[in-house]
Amino acid sequence: MAPFTKARTALAALRADLAGEVLAPGDAGYDVARTVCNARIDRRPAVIAQCAGEADVVRSVCFARDLDLKIAVRGGGRSVAGMGVNDNGVVVDLRRMRGVTVHPGAAAVRVEGGTLMHDLDRATQPHALATTGGRDSATGVAGFVLGGGSGWLERALGPAADSLLGVELVTADGTTVRATAEEHPELFWALHGGGGNFGVATALTLRLHELPEFSVAVVVFRPEAGPDAIRVFRDVVATGPAEAGGAVLYLTGRSEPFVPGYLVGTLLCLVVITYVGGADRLRGLARPLLELPHESEVIAALPYADVQCLLDTPSGMRNHGSAEYLTALPDGLVDVFCARARTMPVPTGCRYMLFPFGGAVTSAYPVPRGDAPWAVHPCGVWADPSDDDRVLSWVEHARADVRPWRTGVVCMPLIGDQGRDRVVGGLDAESLNRLARVKRRYDPDNVFRYNHNIAPG
Ligand SMILES: Cc1cc2nc3c(=O)[nH]c(=O)nc-3n(C[C@H](O)[C@H](O)[C@H](O)COP(=O)(O)OP(=O)(O)OC[C@H]3O[C@@H](n4cnc5c(N)ncnc54)[C@H](O)[C@@H]3O)c2cc1C
Repeated sequence: MAPFTKARTALAALRADLAGEVLAPGDAGYDVARTVCNARIDRRPAVIAQCAGEADVVRSVCFARDLDLKIAVRGGGRSVAGMGVNDNGVVVDLRRMRGVTVHPGAAAVRVEGGTLMHDLDRATQPHALATTGGRDSATGVAGFVLGGGSGWLERALGPAADSLLGVELVTADGTTVRATAEEHPELFWALHGGGGNFGVATALTLRLHELPEFSVAVVVFRPEAGPDAIRVFRDVVATGPAEAGGAVLYLTGRSEPFVPGYLVGTLLCLVVITYVGGADRLRGLARPLLELPHESEVIAALPYADVQCLLDTPSGMRNHGSAEYLTALPDGLVDVFCARARTMPVPTGCRYMLFPFGGAVTSAYPVPRGDAPWAVHPCGVWADPSDDDRVLSWVEHARADVRPWRTGVVCMPLIGDQGRDRVVGGLDAESLNRLARVKRRYDPDNVFRYNHNIAPG
């Protein structure tokens, strides 16, 4: 049979077999379906398999392998590098698989492979339960958790992957596997930060934690006040409880309840403190910041799911980001950070962020973050292609600035595609070899390579 005829026949069979939908170039909906969050990504897959369940995922993986087509796995489409979509290959699209089942008695939740962060948070919130989620509510839970998962709750509860109880996975040969601490334990270990390297997660089970109260403080400063504000925030984190987390963000002020109208469209420095507890206690923790001259403040008890949406990045913008784990946050670095922040292209959606770790953030799994107390994240977000050079250059300068203070461990979930050296360079040799051995067992042909790729060892 000629290859073209084989492909056409196989595609027709896939369309007939899938409970979900199959889209190919020319089909209605194809162009929308191939679009991801980052508007700089414009890829044209041969087939988009919009899977409705595990059987569809198995069928799609086998289809791709029979035709020797590359596979990309798409959840929330939030990968900065656009890893959820490829050119001329098959996209295993999980967006129809967003079922969430909360088991309050067992303090656990099962989410399907395409579930978004806000699906999860809204389902657990009525039970006053939560698990560490990302700082953008439209992120895919599986992509986020399997990458390690850093978020507001991590200093209290640990990185998201620490709450992983089980993963239902379709591996490269179309086999279904359940990985837990008891079943396939090496694979389970690797899924705590090894990302989508080992298969398609059709469902994850996550531990839930009690979250009866949650509050947030946002203190808004003029950009020139940033160095003082960051030094004070650094002390608040160092002396405060693990229940307190947060970030420093330089950004263009947009219309928000905590941004006075006269500051919309200008560069601002925001200090955000999140707190697993009530607003009164948080006000006490934030007092040293409130004593500094500032423009406005909001301190309130809020539903955790609402805070998760607070800093959402709009889809359809152009993205480029980098991130480094830091050995410390000395005054010299604070000054370098603030000086670079003040050169940020404004007004845009760009952000320059500092995140504190510590507390429950440890490194028992291959979540490649070492013992870094802080991370820095220049995040380019802009609309106009004519700004590409300006923003890309700003991100790269920010990355270069912090070189003297970086741990060398790469903050993979938050970087785009910065080459193989950035992926392997930051992992310690023992973890890398162990991940490579797991890869060889479950994906020896490196079928799942649209990710921060671990080569089979
Ligand atoms: C605006 C924004 C904010 C972010 N904030 C944070 C943050 O606060 N903390 C943090 O840790 N990260 C953050 N990230 C990074 C994000 O967690 C990762 O990019 C994550 O991989 C996105 O998953 P996704 O499903 O949305 O993306 P996709 O582009 O759909 O998928 C990305 C990759 O994830 C893997 N993947 C996704 N779903 C599955 C699955 N079901 N099975 C197997 N592999 C899968 C695949 O390798 C895929 O190539 C942020 C990203 C953006 C764009």
